[in-house]
Amino acid sequence: MSILDSFKLNGKVALVTGCSRGLGQAMTIGLAEAGADIIGVSRGSSADETAQAVKAVGQSYDHISADLSSLDAQGCKNLVEQAIDVHGKLDIVVNNAGIIRRSPALEFSEQDWNDVLQVNLNTLFFIAQAAANHMRATGGKIINIASMLSYQGGITVPAYAASKHGVVGVTRALANEWAQYGVNVNAIAPGYMATDNTAPLRADSERNASIVSRIPAGDWGQPDALKGAIVFLASDASEYVHGTTLDVDGGWLAR
Ligand code: NAD
Repeated sequence: MSILDSFKLNGKVALVTGCSRGLGQAMTIGLAEAGADIIGVSRGSSADETAQAVKAVGQSYDHISADLSSLDAQGCKNLVEQAIDVHGKLDIVVNNAGIIRRSPALEFSEQDWNDVLQVNLNTLFFIAQAAANHMRATGGKIINIASMLSYQGGITVPAYAASKHGVVGVTRALANEWAQYGVNVNAIAPGYMATDNTAPLRADSERNASIVSRIPAGDWGQPDALKGAIVFLASDASEYVHGTTLDVDGGWLAR
């Protein structure tokens, strides 16, 4: 097999949470372009734009509607089983769905704290657990979406920083246990990317200027910039990569 063939995902089935827009949508399309069939998860009853793009590159798209803000461990298990039922298997899981709440730490509410941890960390762990219980027999790839705030504290986003530090920690913990089953658990830490999630920062001209001036690449990242990283970590090309977090940040962390 040539090295380029090892990046191909033909015959693989990928589950992506939060596939309807932003980074999740771009990574879903990247996986489909590399040959994977997609099971997309989002709160809505469909993710039409994503589904159309996946079908346009010749792959199948099936949708599961789920609100991760109210999903407990059993709910995550049911979601993964529903996904496995579609093609009788599951090869790749991308835990992408995430939320952010902004408020000074002195006033940060318990509700906001719990909401952010629930979507960004609790469901990520229990979806990974359910997937690995299937993949331990077959091998597989689990990719968690981290952040620059997996390394830094950020400003007025304490729950988000806690959850994203947790994503890197749990990625390492799971890799340690599941590498022996041929299950690769890794993370991607995107830098400052132009999506709905960061629209308030880009709308604040002072914050926007200070962020852009600190990015060696000189601008916000576009969601498509994650396609290479996601395909690498979802493919045989990353067979011996376990527990790492791949920064796709325009050089932010190097500064
Ligand atoms: P976004 O707000 O544009 O999209 C988030 C996705 O998650 C959407 O598809 C949304 O429907 C889904 N989602 C949110 N809450 C959900 C819930 N309760 N149930 C089901 N789905 C839910 O955000 P984005 O910028 O594309 O972020 C995607 C991921 O990347 C998140 O984990 C985010 O923390 C992370 N991230 C983003 C950036 C950035 O600069 N945009 C940087 C680093 C990390």
